Amino acid sequence: MASWDAVLFDCDGVLVDSEVVGLEESARFLRDRGFSFSAEEIIRRYTGKRDDRFREELVQDYADVLGRAPDEEESEALFEGMIAARRAAKHTMQAVPGAAQSVRAAIAADCRVAVASSSKQAFLDSKVERFGLKPLFGEHVYSADIVSQGKPAPDIFLYAADRLGTDPASCLVIEDSVYGVEAALAAGMQAFGFTGGGHCFGGHGDRLLAVGAAKVLPSHAALQQELTP
Ligand SMILES: [Mg+2]
Repeated sequence: MASWDAVLFDCDGVLVDSEVVGLEESARFLRDRGFSFSAEEIIRRYTGKRDDRFREELVQDYADVLGRAPDEEESEALFEGMIAARRAAKHTMQAVPGAAQSVRAAIAADCRVAVASSSKQAFLDSKVERFGLKPLFGEHVYSADIVSQGKPAPDIFLYAADRLGTDPASCLVIEDSVYGVEAALAAGMQAFGFTGGGHCFGGHGDRLLAVGAAKVLPSHAALQQELTP
């Protein structure tokens, strides 16, 4: 018997190593526009966020760079440029090693499983499909597009728990981002921080613990140990 009725997996940085995709391209794009963010800083500022929140913070940072608020056209060009930088590199995307085995371990421990992601639904579905995870999750692949607020609001995790028919208090969330851990806790769930993705720089695990992750796991092998009764 596992300690949880359901395990909710974040996608980007947990199942799919997508956070590093286009990172250098994004850093270059921003540098050309006067930003001075390193790749690490870009990860720290923008990962785990739904597009609306990402855009909002990007535009705020742009205002600091310009010394004035960017107009609508400038804001749109910046946001679209960042999306394009990542999209151009998406063929390099890989699964996080051991991801499918972790999902199988959860299922073997009698847990229900779902994906709960900030990624757009169509893109999320294509990632889950591409890396062979669709048969494991079935219909339970949920994008924050379908709820009113993205992470760090608890909406997407509560929605996934509801669709699985499980009590939020019996759900374990696997998350690589600060926002995701905050969202899980706000949903009344336990969260394990995950640092097995290629974007996790030094100190990232400590940041996840600081916002309330119960523990931090460095790999899917470590997660499988936790899930195996
Ligand atoms: Mg993530």
